[in-house]
Amino acid sequence: MQAQRKRVLILGGGAGGLELAAELAAEKTCAVTLVDVVSTHLWKPRLHEFAAGTVNSTLAEISFYMLAKMRGFRFEQGRVEAIDRAAKTVRLGDMHDQDGRLLTPARNLSYDVCVVALGGVTTDFGTEGVAEHAIRLDTKTDADEFRELFIAAMIAARAGADPARIVIIGSGATGTELAAHLRLSEQAFFEPEDERARRKLLDLTILEAAPELMPGANGELRTGVADRLKALDVSVETGARVAAVTASEVRSADGKSWPADIAVWAAGLVGHPCLKGLADFEMDRKGRIVVDDRLRTTVDPAIYVLGDAASHTPAGAQMPLPPTAQCASQQADYLASAIPKALAGETPGPFVFRDKGKLVSLGRAGSVGLIGFARKDDFYVAGQFATAAYHALQRQHQWAVLGPLRGTVAIVADVISPARGPALKLHG
Ligand SMILES: Cc1cc2nc3c(=O)[nH]c(=O)nc-3n(C[C@H](O)[C@H](O)[C@H](O)COP(=O)(O)OP(=O)(O)OC[C@H]3O[C@@H](n4cnc5c(N)ncnc54)[C@H](O)[C@@H]3O)c2cc1C
Repeated sequence: MQAQRKRVLILGGGAGGLELAAELAAEKTCAVTLVDVVSTHLWKPRLHEFAAGTVNSTLAEISFYMLAKMRGFRFEQGRVEAIDRAAKTVRLGDMHDQDGRLLTPARNLSYDVCVVALGGVTTDFGTEGVAEHAIRLDTKTDADEFRELFIAAMIAARAGADPARIVIIGSGATGTELAAHLRLSEQAFFEPEDERARRKLLDLTILEAAPELMPGANGELRTGVADRLKALDVSVETGARVAAVTASEVRSADGKSWPADIAVWAAGLVGHPCLKGLADFEMDRKGRIVVDDRLRTTVDPAIYVLGDAASHTPAGAQMPLPPTAQCASQQADYLASAIPKALAGETPGPFVFRDKGKLVSLGRAGSVGLIGFARKDDFYVAGQFATAAYHALQRQHQWAVLGPLRGTVAIVADVISPARGPALKLHG
């Protein structure tokens, strides 16, 4: 029976790819295979919490092998290297263990329909010293590396007289949320006397090249975030165009410098570098694959792209859709019904993105955001309502990935988890 069904091969099990695999497999109309280079799914919007050590979710990390068994799709672990469009195959590279021993030689997987969901990465635009001296937050390995450095810096600060200095380059959601969560983690290092004397163990600075915080965000949201960062004692410097990062400081083009024990690069997002060599796809200037209004590549209707890897500019819009989990999730939802229709010879309607708003969660300073409501203009939200709305995106992801029953259990476990506040996670 399985052999007669059309084969859908999904490359990348992130925010969008995994939701699509789970939803399509539930339909049972096609045989679904998901490929990822790692063995566990990590929901990227919580990466800064992993990095700061404040993570407390039951779905923060979950085995693809378990999920595949649970939801009825096949999981293949391996690094996607290329797509042969003529042969309709995807090549996965050799797989080695930690000691370099060969686990699986390179292999080809066949498909009838392929979905590229390989995500994006931050780019340093070739800025001097970033590759050597700054951390980025693209993968769990990055988050683990950051957390080890953070803990070492905090131990040194507690033992010495000076606070640890962390400089974050980029004032988007990742930079601002990371700063807020680090302030939360700082509490885990206080000795009782430090707390009484209100001794600061952590200096946090956010540098932004644009003239204002969170470029592109609505003014009310920006003010809400700025007020909260101030309350958290996070300094923000705008108009700071970073020209170099060294082992001990961050320097701007106009000669200013900021001492840094740790520098984090959290600016600029482009398509994953592996996308460039996949096939002869049309690419945009940010290294993402251009797709049409049905999310199909412009060179091959049997290959779809979603999420951060896709460049989709809706009719009448000036810019492609934003690289967000919200967008990736809606595209996964769309493809879960569009692909079976296309395989059945029908023509699915176009993908329409519904912007549900933008929310920023700033640890103990609370959440702020703009929420679209009943097609009216976005309205500004703050406090508990904003926090609940912020978590709604992940709740929806948990439902889509785990199904209603297990999703509800995971959500309840998450809500009643005792690991709230500065619950510092010390290892990956
Ligand atoms: C710190 C942080 C906070 C964020 N907060 C929010 C938020 O609040 N709201 C929001 O909407 N968005 C947020 N985002 C953005 C959001 O995480 C991304 O837009 C979303 O994850 C994109 O989903 P995706 O499925 O396209 O790719 P990803 O989720 O990045 O998944 C890509 C997958 O592909 C795999 N992969 C990559 N290369 C290969 C390869 N060669 N072979 C095999 N597998 C490969 C990866 O292992 C990964 O599992 C945040 C991002 C970060 C970093």
